[in-house]
Amino acid sequence: MVPASLVSKTKRVFNFSPGPAVLPLEVLEQAREDLLSLPGVGISILEISHRSPAFDQILESTLADLRSILAVPESHDIVLMQGGASLQFSMLPMNLLRGQSVPAQYLITGTWGALAAKEALREGRVQVAWDGASTQYDRLPADEEIKIDPASAYVHVTSNETIQGVQWNRDPIVGKVPLVSDCSSDFLSRPIDVAAYGLIYACAQKNAGIAGVTAVILRKDLLERSRDDLPTMLDYRTYSKNGSRPNTPPVFAIYILGLVCRWIRDSIGGLAAMKLHNTTKANVLYDLLDASHGFYAGHSHRDCRSQMNVTFRLPTEELEKKFIVQATERGLIDLKGHRSVGGIRASIYNAMPIEGVTALRDFMSAFRDASV
Ligand SMILES: *Cc1c(COP(=O)(O)O)cnc(C)c1O
Repeated sequence: MVPASLVSKTKRVFNFSPGPAVLPLEVLEQAREDLLSLPGVGISILEISHRSPAFDQILESTLADLRSILAVPESHDIVLMQGGASLQFSMLPMNLLRGQSVPAQYLITGTWGALAAKEALREGRVQVAWDGASTQYDRLPADEEIKIDPASAYVHVTSNETIQGVQWNRDPIVGKVPLVSDCSSDFLSRPIDVAAYGLIYACAQKNAGIAGVTAVILRKDLLERSRDDLPTMLDYRTYSKNGSRPNTPPVFAIYILGLVCRWIRDSIGGLAAMKLHNTTKANVLYDLLDASHGFYAGHSHRDCRSQMNVTFRLPTEELEKKFIVQATERGLIDLKGHRSVGGIRASIYNAMPIEGVTALRDFMSAFRDASV
């Protein structure tokens, strides 16, 4: 339990949840203001019509800000939809694999990638170009391990495996085959060379906002592959043609995404600065792991350690339980690792302040001293 004194109205604890996750305080404060009455509109953001001029403006500026922050080229469209990243596991192969004679390739570096490949199997041929399961998904393939048949519909990777804490720190080399990336847990955390990708998708509730909205950035020519027998709401063309508003979109989730974009642009200074901030935070924890003489044993190899989800184990499960209880008492919450990996996972997304990370480091350091 978090002590009552830590959860008074004015004090927030440090939230290391893997998602839905910590939001920037500025964003929450703005949302609080607009919750009763949007300036110039006189009603709540929760009450406005999705066809109102006020929402026109919110949607337009959110899409424009995403485009400018990520430097999305003209060749690519940005659409917002619902259903989370999990729906993209299905929508992607429905649109780009259904009816094709060639397979889709999956590079599986963790739990989410495995789930994505499983869904694609329902739509067509799938080849697993690489799978890290034999070492519990603790590393990425080296370039020479990646063999992609040039006659493939697309290659799917998971930019950051949220559960294992394994992150791509380079664009995989896949030749001319369209590269697709599930960026759900590192979206807007660092610059990305969008032109190198055929399609990028990301749910918002890790780094970019709240649950309910998913961003898909796709090369416009790929839209031509979708077949007319797709259900309207599962066809990428529907969202592209109708400016992400074919029906009622998740108004509040888009509004929050817009606020997060503005926070990244104006308060952080863009994605290069965001990355620096995130690397600095991750290094605070990894430096401690490395200096702990194996007391804190990181899950992933050094060259692919996630800047977003720091995963590690303690010498015994009993110590891990004690660690979580004591951390919670200090206002460091949601540090339990995923049940499939165990141990500890500290998710330190964009909005986690450096103070949260140093508080965790200090706690870890003291916990180790008291345990060895
Ligand atoms: C959280 C997550 C998902 C699932 O997202 P939902 O919006 O819950 O469907 C998929 N992929 C990755 C990498 C994730 O981190």
